[in-house]
Amino acid sequence: MSNIAFIGLGNMGGPMAANLVKAGHRVTGFDLVAASCDAARAEGISIAGSAVESVRDAEIVVTMLPAGKHVIGVWSEIAPSIPKGALIVDCSTIDVESARRAHAIAAEFNLDSLDAPVSGGTVGAKGATLTFMVGGTVKAFAIGEAVLALMGRRVVHCGDAGAGQAAKICNNMILGITMIGISEAFVLAEKLGLSHQALFDVASTSSGSCWALTTHCPVPGPVPTSAANNGYKPGFATELMLKDLRLSQQAALASGAATPLGAEAAQIYGLFQSAGHGGEDYSAVINFLRGGAKA
Ligand code: NAD
Repeated sequence: MSNIAFIGLGNMGGPMAANLVKAGHRVTGFDLVAASCDAARAEGISIAGSAVESVRDAEIVVTMLPAGKHVIGVWSEIAPSIPKGALIVDCSTIDVESARRAHAIAAEFNLDSLDAPVSGGTVGAKGATLTFMVGGTVKAFAIGEAVLALMGRRVVHCGDAGAGQAAKICNNMILGITMIGISEAFVLAEKLGLSHQALFDVASTSSGSCWALTTHCPVPGPVPTSAANNGYKPGFATELMLKDLRLSQQAALASGAATPLGAEAAQIYGLFQSAGHGGEDYSAVINFLRGGAKA
């Protein structure tokens, strides 16, 4: 049994911390929102009075926060109080530059550190089926892998500091672009009088096949579990897809990579969100492409 501190007990962090308790660890948590603390307490997590207090006896510290500025703020605040030799892991989705700054803060205090963003959403967080994309030293990964495995199904070491965040935004840029391509094909099929099922049956077994089509099919029918069959309730919300695409564009600008389709995808999801659809599943972008998704 280890002492684990968990800061950020929201939609993802709450259930992830609960899985660590279920695995037999002693988890001390902290969140700014009282309701999140209450929900975590009910799952067996001890709630500390502050982020600093939560890490005092920690062997491992996990953060799951909204964005880079929150991670930098919390890591700067807690790093001096974390016992020497502990590991600090950030599982939030943040920009690569902030992730590398966070690693530098940890190094200043002789702490091992990992960036370990996840894919799999709230369902994966609850069911401990997340995929972790991990950046950091081989030594830090060796310490953290077993704990991450308690919250997920796959833990992939992607490289040095920031490599986990890099893998996450590259993967989600593929997904965002792909969903728009799939949606355009269904819209064209509708205009040509081709049924959704016919296009699905052909594309899913031909060169057009891909994970987004066979798992998140944007029209109701062919994939019964896709959000399209449930009024586009997320799933993976448009606003989160937009966040990841904007992170990819920030990284593309900083690194000089040409990502014209990533840029266009960010614009399309941005317009869709501006029209009031940020809370819908990202596959609902098909409605925007049909011209029927006004505010
Ligand atoms: P959330 O808003 O539900 O949770 C974030 C929590 O952090 C909130 O409870 C907030 O009160 C807390 N917080 C903010 N600042 C804090 C501070 N200084 N100290 C303590 N707590 C603080 O968000 P979420 O859906 O849990 O997402 C968390 C991260 O995971 C984000 O970076 C998101 O992009 C990423 N992510 C989310 C999903 C998803 O499906 N929700 C999937 C993959 C990755």
